[in-house]
Parts: sequence; C-alpha cells; structure tokens
Amino acid sequence: TSPNILLNVNGIEVIYNHVILVLKGVSLQVPEGSVVALLGGNGAGKTTTLRSVSNLLAGERGDVTKGSIELRGERIERLTPAQLVQRGVIQVMEGRHCFAHLTIEENLLTGAYTRTDGKAAVAQTLEKVYNYFPRLKTRRTSLAAYTSGGEQQMCAIGRALMANPNMVLLDEPSMGLAPQIVEEVFEIVKDLNQREKVTFLLAEQNTNIALRYADYGYILESGRIVMDGKAAELRENEDVKEFYLGTG
Ligand code: ATP
Repeated sequence: TSPNILLNVNGIEVIYNHVILVLKGVSLQVPEGSVVALLGGNGAGKTTTLRSVSNLLAGERGDVTKGSIELRGERIERLTPAQLVQRGVIQVMEGRHCFAHLTIEENLLTGAYTRTDGKAAVAQTLEKVYNYFPRLKTRRTSLAAYTSGGEQQMCAIGRALMANPNMVLLDEPSMGLAPQIVEEVFEIVKDLNQREKVTFLLAEQNTNIALRYADYGYILESGRIVMDGKAAELRENEDVKEFYLGTG
C-alpha cells in the first residue's frame, strides 16, 4: 500500500446470516484527504461495504469471510466500532439517526463521548461544527424530532464531527432531501474536506451530485465493483451517462 492510502479494502466477501453472499470481492482505496464516492443502485451493496469498514455488520448478522481491510496499513477487521472511532473513523448511518427526544445540541454532544481531551476542547469543536452548520446553531435548543430532514442529516454529520474524525463514512446523505438541501449538505462536505482535511467515503444512489463533489468514484453492481475512475472521467463515460446519469 502506498503511504497516502488511508483506507484499503482488499477483495472482501460479505455473507449475511451464513448464507447470503452480498459482497463478492470488493476492493477499493481511499487516499488520505480525498472524497471517494461509492455508487450503485438499491441493494448493490454500498451500505454493506461501509458497515464492513466500520464493523457494524455483526448486529446485522453479517460477516467478512474473505479479504482484508486496512487503515494506514493496520488490519482493522477485528476492531470494534469504538476502537475505530479512537482511530478517527466514524460512520454516519443512512436515515439520519438523530435522537428524536434530544435537542440538536444534546445530539451533537453525544458525538464527543469517546473524547478524553476535556470540556474546553469539546466546546471548541462544537463551535466549529456550528460554524460549518449555521442552521444547527439556530436550532440548537430544538428537539431533533421537530427539525427538518435536512437539519437532521446535518445533525448526524455534525455529531460525527464531534468525535474529531479523520475519516467519515457517509451513507446516502442525499436520501429524502430536497435538491437544494442536498446541494447544501454536499457543499459543507467539500468544505470540511478542504479546510479540515477530513477524508470521506460516501455511498450514494444520486450519481450526479456525488460525482460533482467527489474526487474518485467506484460503481457497485450486485456486490462487485464494475467500474472506477476519477469523478471527472466517470462523468464523461458513456455507460455512466446512460445508466447512472440519465444523460446518455
Ligand atoms: P440501499 O441503498 O438500499 O441501502 P445498498 O447498495 O446500500 O442499497 P445494501 O444495503 O448493502 O445495499 O444491501 C445489499 C444486499 O444485501 C441487498 O440484497 C440486501 O437485501 C441484503 N442485505 C442487507 N442487509 C441484510 C441483512 N441484515 N440480512 C440479510 N441481507 C441483507
């Protein structure tokens, strides 16, 4: 592995419930400081790939049965999600899992639970999150249940940032959001990437927006990577235009 590869997924196979083979040898690499998009339709295996990295498969009765996953060269398949958070890797799950009965600010603070660097440092990160997401600052005392879908997605990302991650695994950030809000969320992702040097691996069905903001893309179909390339190249690819962008 070359030194600037943060995450290296090498030929992983994933089986659910001991029988259902869902990933059939997926390999991908995420360079430090990049935004990489994992694209593909419903059921292609995007969520499963992210869960394999963040080790959230066990709760789903899933197992990585072949291949390896390395973070900066260290094998991570056997680490718990909490150990991964300590190493700077955190997943934002699909469907904006904010705690409905907590305020936006309380939700954000739950994201800092693994930190040991003190209250002042956490308060500083909170201010930073509010800088990136002014909407969350406005809504800081609102119960998450009473905020919009866009605000909840922002809250979920903001909560992940409270752990001070190097890498965020972002599952389907556009889901259920109006186009203008999707754009706003992706603008912030790009900003975080450029200014805070956060690396992103994001799963998206919305190929168009993902390829406008990502550096590199992988396309998954039925548990296999069928194509990959620089985002700008994929956007010009005739097959991608026809099957994924609807502009072919
Ligand atoms: P989506 O956008 O719908 O989440 P995806 O590309 O993320 O799609 P996955 O959620 O990874 O796809 O699902 C891949 C396949 O694995 C699907 O056929 C799905 O039905 C199956 N699958 C997912 N989770 C489980 C599970 N816990 N048990 C059994 N099969 C599962």
